[in-house]
Amino acid sequence: MSGKRALIVLAHQEKTSFNYAMKDAAVEALKKKGWQVTVSDLYAMKFNPVLSRDDIIGDPQDPDAFKYGMETAVAYKEGRLAPDIVEEQKKLEAADLLIFQFPLYWFGLPALIKGWTERVFSVGFAYTLTTLYSNGPFRNKKALLSFTTGASDTSFLNNGLNGDINVNIWPMQNGILNFCGFQVLEPQISYAVSHIPHEARVAMLEGWKKRLGTIWDEKPIKFIPIQDFDLGNGFVLKKEVVEANSGQKSGITVGQHLGKAIPADSQVKSGNTRL
Ligand code: FAD
Repeated sequence: MSGKRALIVLAHQEKTSFNYAMKDAAVEALKKKGWQVTVSDLYAMKFNPVLSRDDIIGDPQDPDAFKYGMETAVAYKEGRLAPDIVEEQKKLEAADLLIFQFPLYWFGLPALIKGWTERVFSVGFAYTLTTLYSNGPFRNKKALLSFTTGASDTSFLNNGLNGDINVNIWPMQNGILNFCGFQVLEPQISYAVSHIPHEARVAMLEGWKKRLGTIWDEKPIKFIPIQDFDLGNGFVLKKEVVEANSGQKSGITVGQHLGKAIPADSQVKSGNTRL
C-alpha cells in the first residue's frame, strides 16, 4: 500500500469525455495501489476562476488601489482568504502528487485550471520571493500534466505545424509547476483523441493506468536548480554554469537555451538533459 495522497484537478464539461475517462482511470489505478485520491472536478464544482476583491475576507489594506498579489499574501498570512481558495489549498497541502487533467485549449490550460492556479497558488502558500523554483514550498511533492489534444502528435514535432511540444508546455511545466518547487514528472499526452480509433483510446487509458501503478518511482524532468543562478546580479546563470555547458551543441533547457538549439524532448522525457 502506497499510503500516499493524490489530488486530481480536472477541467472538462462532460462526463462522457475522454478527459473524464482519464480521470476515472487514474482514480481506479491509484486506489488499487493504496493511494488516497481527491478529485477537484472544477466544472462540477462550478469553481470560480475569476480573481477579485472577494478573494479576501475583511477590509483590504488599500481599498483605493487594490493590489491582488499583496492583498492575498496578507490575507493568506492572516487566514483571511475566501473559503473556496482555502479548501483547495488544504487539498493540495495534503497531496503528495498533483495531476492536472485537461484538454489543451489554445496551446495552454483551460481557463478553469488557469484560474484555479491563479487563485489557489497564493503568495506565501505556493511561493515567496525567497522560496521559489527548486527551493519552492512544494519541493517534496510531484506533479504532472495529463492532457488531450485535438491535433496529431506529428503536428507537435519540431518541424510540425503547431511547433515543438517541448516549447508548448514549457510555460506550464516551468512557469507554474517548477516555479513552485514541484518535481515535475513527464506529461501524459493523449494526442488527437477525437480522431483516432476507439481501440487506440482504450490502449491510451490502459497505458495511463499502467504508468500510474509505479508513478511515485519516476524520476522527474530536470530543471536548473536555483543555486545555479546569480540572484544578486540580474537573476542570470552563473558564469561557471554557462562555461560548463559551452561545449554542448544544444542549450540547457527550453528556456535557458543560451542561443543554441533547445535540448531534444527535454520537457516530455525525464533524465535526458545534462543538469
Ligand atoms: P472527447 O471529444 O470528449 O472524446 C474523444 C473521444 O473519446 C470521443 O469519441 C469519446 O466518445 C471517446 N471516449 C470517451 N470516453 C472513452 C472511453 N472510456 N474509452 C474510449 N473512448 C472514449 N487542440 C489542440 O491540439 N491545440 C489547441 O490549442 C486546442 N485549443 C482548443 C481550444 C478550445 C477552446 C477548444 C474547445 C478545443 C481546443 N482544442 C485544441 C481541441 C481539444 O484539445 C480537444 O477537443 C480535446 O483535447 C479532446 O478531448 P475531450 O476529452 O474533449 O475528447
